[in-house]
Amino acid sequence: MPQEFEDARTVLQQIENAGYEAYFVGGSVRDTLLNKKIHDVDIASSAYPAEIKQIFKKTIDTGIEHGTVMVIHDGNGYEVTTFRTESGYQDFRRPDKVTFVRSLKEDLMRRDFTINALALREDRTIIDIFDGVDDLNKKIIKAVGDPHERFHEDALRMMRAVRFASQLDFVINKQTLSAISENNYLLAKISVERTLVEFQKMMLGQNPNRGLIDMLGTGLSEYCPGFKNQKNKLRKLTDLKLNQLANEEQVWTLITWLLEIDQTQITSFLKQWKTSNDVIKSVIATTSVLEMQNDVKVDRMRLFKAGKINVQNAIQVSGILGKDQTKWMTVYSQLQVKNANEVAITGKDLIKAGVVKPGPEMGIILNRIKEMIINDQVQNEHTQLLKLANTIQKDSRA
Ligand code: ATP
Ligand code: MG
Repeated sequence: MPQEFEDARTVLQQIENAGYEAYFVGGSVRDTLLNKKIHDVDIASSAYPAEIKQIFKKTIDTGIEHGTVMVIHDGNGYEVTTFRTESGYQDFRRPDKVTFVRSLKEDLMRRDFTINALALREDRTIIDIFDGVDDLNKKIIKAVGDPHERFHEDALRMMRAVRFASQLDFVINKQTLSAISENNYLLAKISVERTLVEFQKMMLGQNPNRGLIDMLGTGLSEYCPGFKNQKNKLRKLTDLKLNQLANEEQVWTLITWLLEIDQTQITSFLKQWKTSNDVIKSVIATTSVLEMQNDVKVDRMRLFKAGKINVQNAIQVSGILGKDQTKWMTVYSQLQVKNANEVAITGKDLIKAGVVKPGPEMGIILNRIKEMIINDQVQNEHTQLLKLANTIQKDSRA
């Protein structure tokens, strides 16, 4: 068992000693069996929230209405969730009613895929009611129960299926896949924020090409913001080595590039997807660098404006598009200044030297100076810059 489980074992033992059942469940069990690193340890128990709170000295009510209590043990927090069933799902996304139950089986039945419906006891025994271990070995994503029903209950599960297909490099089971095709339109009921999380995890997974091919093949993509009737352009993505994508910014730069979205339309496109403003800013800057893709001459000012991280992102995306542009970083690293505040002369200096009075003219001169430094037309050295400022000033008056 991984260290995270060893650390949490006493929590499970204490619950069992009090006469209840407790198991590790969810992604951590799946990932352990796959020899992957685990991130969060989820515990499920037959004990009701109030009973959990009686067993442990320190607990925090993190989601008590859903049955989740956080137990503090050895300085770590562990989410313990009471076994529950869900019913209703009139809106295709969340249950109308959550009922606490004492049976593990019922709790596992509400989970999405067989590989996510495994439970692990403190004594290392695995409870595998839906042949999840077999599917793990066969690398299959298969809905628990009737896939059609399960996607009707919660349409996000369809996005989770393609996300796991990419993350784990697994194949989606045939019935499960055709149920996605049949119910693809239900994705429109899901909030964009939740779709975004799954989509990004998919694009940054082990085999994004596989996830994307499934999204396009099932028509799930048609119900994503800005993807309607864009299959032909999106298909081009599937010919590229998408597993080279390293972050969200690169994902969105590549997508907006292939969708041929104009610079000025990037913001409104990404706003539909509800990405953060930082991501939008970075995608715009990265795209402006990428636009030099076919130019012989490198526009040094563009590199300066984009900054190191976005230059890096542009090189990565360009590589995925089949062009080596490492020279962009070579040029960037040669820039005398990487930041406007590194310019060896300030407005104050200009005023003190009597070159210019405060006002818009000063800004114009400073900008011109910065541009010339970036284009290596002058050394970033105070006396030289002061001389240059005088010349610019005289020229502008002449
Ligand atoms: P990750 O590695 O991304 O954390 P995970 O499988 O742990 O993957 P979580 O979203 O953390 O995913 O959910 C934990 C568990 O809860 C899942 O393994 C699954 O059993 C169950 N689960 C999560 N979301 C759903 C859902 N929409 N429908 C059914 N079961 C779900
Ligand atoms: Mg998880």
